[in-house]
Amino acid sequence: MNRRTTTPNRLTRTRASRTVRSAAAVLGTVLLGALTGCGGSGAGSSTAAAADLVSTAPAGPATSAPPAPSSSAPGSASASPSAPSSAPASPSAAEPLAGRTIVLDPGHNPTNVDHPTEINRQVDVGNAHKECDTTGTETDAGYTEADYTLDVSHRVRDLLQALGAKVILTQDGDRPYGPCVDERAAIGNQAHADAAISIHGDGGPASGSGFHVIMPAKVVAGKADNSAIVDPSHRFGLLLRSAFHDATGEPYADYVAEQGLDTRSDLGGLNLSTVPKVFIECGNMRNAGDAQRMTDPQWRQRAAQGIANGFTAFLTSGGTNNLDSAVPSSGSS
Ligand SMILES: [Zn+2]
Repeated sequence: MNRRTTTPNRLTRTRASRTVRSAAAVLGTVLLGALTGCGGSGAGSSTAAAADLVSTAPAGPATSAPPAPSSSAPGSASASPSAPSSAPASPSAAEPLAGRTIVLDPGHNPTNVDHPTEINRQVDVGNAHKECDTTGTETDAGYTEADYTLDVSHRVRDLLQALGAKVILTQDGDRPYGPCVDERAAIGNQAHADAAISIHGDGGPASGSGFHVIMPAKVVAGKADNSAIVDPSHRFGLLLRSAFHDATGEPYADYVAEQGLDTRSDLGGLNLSTVPKVFIECGNMRNAGDAQRMTDPQWRQRAAQGIANGFTAFLTSGGTNNLDSAVPSSGSS
């Protein structure tokens, strides 16, 4: 996404236009910065808040690549400590995320581009009305953000399921368009997810590279009240930033955010979430170097590993959805 540009025509692209665009790459360098994006206008950004968090960033997960699950057939007769077998969902060394529910939101939809009317419909995100969804960006070579986010989400799902988590995708390329951003949030809420993420690739200026994590600003407006998730989401965001950086080597974005962190109040998926949630912009698909990496399946696997590690770090360090019973705290916690 590129919140620095407001582009009323960015949703009108067609598949045909992509073909033309590759022949107009030079023009595209200028034009696509305006055509692309998933965040829309930049209202509500609070980089100062993100900067505040930088100085308090914890050390992050110790390892970038925890031991992978050994195989599809875990050692059956190992001398593990005896545990009550009547608790199938309790975490174990092999399945530290057993009993946890995680929602992955692959940004955009591969066929949004064919449904401009539907995705342009305005939906209520609490403090504003925004498009139901957007088409997202793509590389010069035509690798779309929607294809990228779905591929990475599948990889993250496999990794998290191997750790015992229940994983829900908001879309799996199985809808003609969307879902709308408000529904993307609602899916996590209704699942009472322990944590959720919206996975994206950015459409920033071609000269900019790197990744960043977007955390929710507090929004209490209209039907939005995410006040209970701000703190845990920020903690998740910090852990995710470290894990993703360690796993991929991708630098923090040099064209947006601060030290790889941003805080925003203009994203429906964060405004309307009642479960801990962040966005990650894994790289800038409009930048040649990032585009090359993001197009590489091996890099995408590292990206997925970083995201999975971020979830694991959060959920095994106290991160949980206790929010259903949480009472707004009177003191610091
Ligand atoms: Zn996006």
